[in-house]
Amino acid sequence: MSTRATPSATPRADGPEGDGSGDLLARYGCGPVPFTGHDDALYERRLIFDHVVDLTEAGPRERFEAVAAAIRDVLAQRWVRTQQEHERANPKQVYYLSMEFLIGRSLANNVMNLLLSPLVDDAARRRGLDLAELIEQEPDAGLGNGGLGRLAACFVESMATMALPAIGYGLRYDFGIFRQELRDGCQVEQPDRWLARPDPWEVARPNEAVTVPLGCRFEAHGGEIAVHRGQASHLLGVPYDRPVVGHGGRTINTLRLWKAETPDVFDFGEFSGGDYFGAVSDRVLAETVSRVLYPDDSTPRGRSLRFLQEYFLVACSLDDIVARFLRRGNDWPALADKVAVQLNDTHPALAVAELMRILLDRAGLNWDRAWELTIGTLAYTNHTLLPEALETWPVDLFEALLPRHLEIVYEINRRFLDDVRAAHPGDEAKVGRMSLIEEGPTRKVRMAHLAIVGTHSTNGVAAIHSELLRTRTVPDFAAMFPGRFGNKTNGVTPRRWLLLANPGLAALLTEAVGVGWAADLGKLAAVTPLAEDAGFREHFLAARRAAKLRFVDWIRDRDGIALDPDSIFDAQVKRIHEYKRQLLNVLHVVVCYNRLRDDPGLDPPPRTFLFAGKAAPAYHLAKLIIRLINDVGATLDRDQAARGRLRVAFLPDYSVTLAERLIPASDVSEQISTAGFEASGTSNMKFMMNGALTVGTRDGATIEIAEEVGEENLFLFGLTADQVAGSRGWYEPRWHYEHEPEARRALDLIASGHFNPGEPGRYAPIREALLTHGEPYMHLADLTSYAEAQRCVSDLYADRAGWARKAIINVARSGKFSSDRTIAEYAGSIWGATPCPVA
Ligand SMILES: *Cc1c(COP(=O)(O)O)cnc(C)c1O
Repeated sequence: MSTRATPSATPRADGPEGDGSGDLLARYGCGPVPFTGHDDALYERRLIFDHVVDLTEAGPRERFEAVAAAIRDVLAQRWVRTQQEHERANPKQVYYLSMEFLIGRSLANNVMNLLLSPLVDDAARRRGLDLAELIEQEPDAGLGNGGLGRLAACFVESMATMALPAIGYGLRYDFGIFRQELRDGCQVEQPDRWLARPDPWEVARPNEAVTVPLGCRFEAHGGEIAVHRGQASHLLGVPYDRPVVGHGGRTINTLRLWKAETPDVFDFGEFSGGDYFGAVSDRVLAETVSRVLYPDDSTPRGRSLRFLQEYFLVACSLDDIVARFLRRGNDWPALADKVAVQLNDTHPALAVAELMRILLDRAGLNWDRAWELTIGTLAYTNHTLLPEALETWPVDLFEALLPRHLEIVYEINRRFLDDVRAAHPGDEAKVGRMSLIEEGPTRKVRMAHLAIVGTHSTNGVAAIHSELLRTRTVPDFAAMFPGRFGNKTNGVTPRRWLLLANPGLAALLTEAVGVGWAADLGKLAAVTPLAEDAGFREHFLAARRAAKLRFVDWIRDRDGIALDPDSIFDAQVKRIHEYKRQLLNVLHVVVCYNRLRDDPGLDPPPRTFLFAGKAAPAYHLAKLIIRLINDVGATLDRDQAARGRLRVAFLPDYSVTLAERLIPASDVSEQISTAGFEASGTSNMKFMMNGALTVGTRDGATIEIAEEVGEENLFLFGLTADQVAGSRGWYEPRWHYEHEPEARRALDLIASGHFNPGEPGRYAPIREALLTHGEPYMHLADLTSYAEAQRCVSDLYADRAGWARKAIINVARSGKFSSDRTIAEYAGSIWGATPCPVA
């Protein structure tokens, strides 16, 4: 095998004609394709006609919009043809329902997946356009909180790449996840006005709007709704479609996001009553339903407007799904043969009651028939075992907004509990545990129970998570429906997370194993023997170095943060949450700092600990953790003992775009959750693919990463999930505090005010939390073994070849973690769906 000294800038795209030559465009068919010979004309037309601007006067944002619009013109015919083919072939259609799609930017991704990179690069060069600058103009579509929303985005991309007939359904929030600013080291939330300028990718389809009837009228105040019973009302759901370009551009599926509006007929009713002002106000009220994404991750706050959002998504999507099903000439008995609906967590679990309502009240089926079709059509993915994250909604809220749905839920429950009683006579405790209704001062509907009972499949998102779900969280249900429970370990799309994010490494991999890896990540296995090839190792390290330098430039331009590329980049980037244990990382940093202060002669390889992530606005301890990280960072920067050897940087406003740039530049991937708490994790996979080495606990998909690479190729530490569960109740952090001097000194230094002399008591709540008897996340129990694992990291870093060997093996064995593999499993064992290639 031969490798060049410098990896080429762009890898060749996958596919037989993927060399960027003109004839690859033939596959887009449908007449002349722009961007072949007269590409400039299209771009210029877009600038002049869309913006009415002199070509030489156009600013970067206008140039971005013109290029994006030109790309959309290129894909439009292919997008239509995909829909035509699905209408014609009437295949089993997959629907992915999710309250979140954390999409990020689309321009570079679409160019890549259309295999247009060579042409666009060339056209830009000839026009003197700075593509990198244009790309930076696009705001992230941040319609999600974190892993769950990003998973949905990776999944729809994989489904398009695999030619599955699939549509994603979500909400078109006017405000996505808040923008995080740091003031004096504290998180401040700013609105994310991603639609302040028109989005070039979306197509509004007002003529496909659907009407959503509600059992009452409502007013919204600060995330809660006040209902006026007895007066029915309506919402209008207007679809906004976004293209989902599969790799190779053959299939272009749709992500359909609903915007809430008021139906005009409703306004007329008000007008006739003379209440002009009231009618106009109601329009604004309706629009609040899709105004803003709830910024809580894994900890829902139970606001009633959120309930309405969930129902709005379900009602709009099922109406659309049923309309498409009938339009294609299908009849009700075929529903489960032609439609598969996947529920991304319980957020869309109202689909169980809504589909029953449609089948009973509209199709006129009897209960048993409707129930069989509902179960056959729907499937549910569980995302978390945290008890505080299991959704429940007050029966009162159902009663006011969705009285018919409550009736249906009660009837589902009555029949279900009859079955439970029949199987376990006299076991009323079990009946109480399994009921869809939680009894108590406020009676509530348990959405996870509804989702399990009303679907044919319940899956977790990593092997350990699915196992814990079955054995600990809902064992009664697993015993009753053993065939319904399964596992689908998450994945990420290697197009965005490797081909696009890391062009240097991607080019090297293409040289090593050919162009096919991006659509078949298992092909990277052929790289494994190259870990022993000294020449390849040098090319690999050079590609990683290039990614690091690119990131250093980018973050300096973005935030004015100067990073030392000669230090180890050790990254923990994810939502800030106690179970993810950013505090464990900080404690270890302070341990290292104390060692340097004790012994100035110590000479560990310099390290930069990079943190990024948002805290839910009401999660006070998480916000305090952000502040601590910033205080520690500032103190280290000032202290001679740490300078040049130990740094901490908190990078503000974590996003898909930041992740795409930071992950390829990172040497160490921190995956240090308390074992048993992280359902899967997906950043662990992105880091692995890009050649970072993992320091992690035996949790989520990190366990499966270790299985793929072998335990000698990452740094595992800490208690297992069984050990964590086994010591619950008697765990005493003070024992560690009293017997482990480094832990005690680290905690004491934080509590002493050393990092925050202006307000010495600031971190008392953190000390308190860490030392509380039975501390659920067991930080101190794992600190010693964590520090030991980190010592091994430092030792290995001194051995360039040894490090490169392990990093290469990580990349080579990352094939399992492509979302293509995950989707193939869903398609095969849950959906029964097969590809529907578009000619
Ligand atoms: C991948 C990703 C996540 C998920 O990260 P975890 O470490 O798995 O929690 C969250 N946010 C963004 C922006 C991501 O890209």
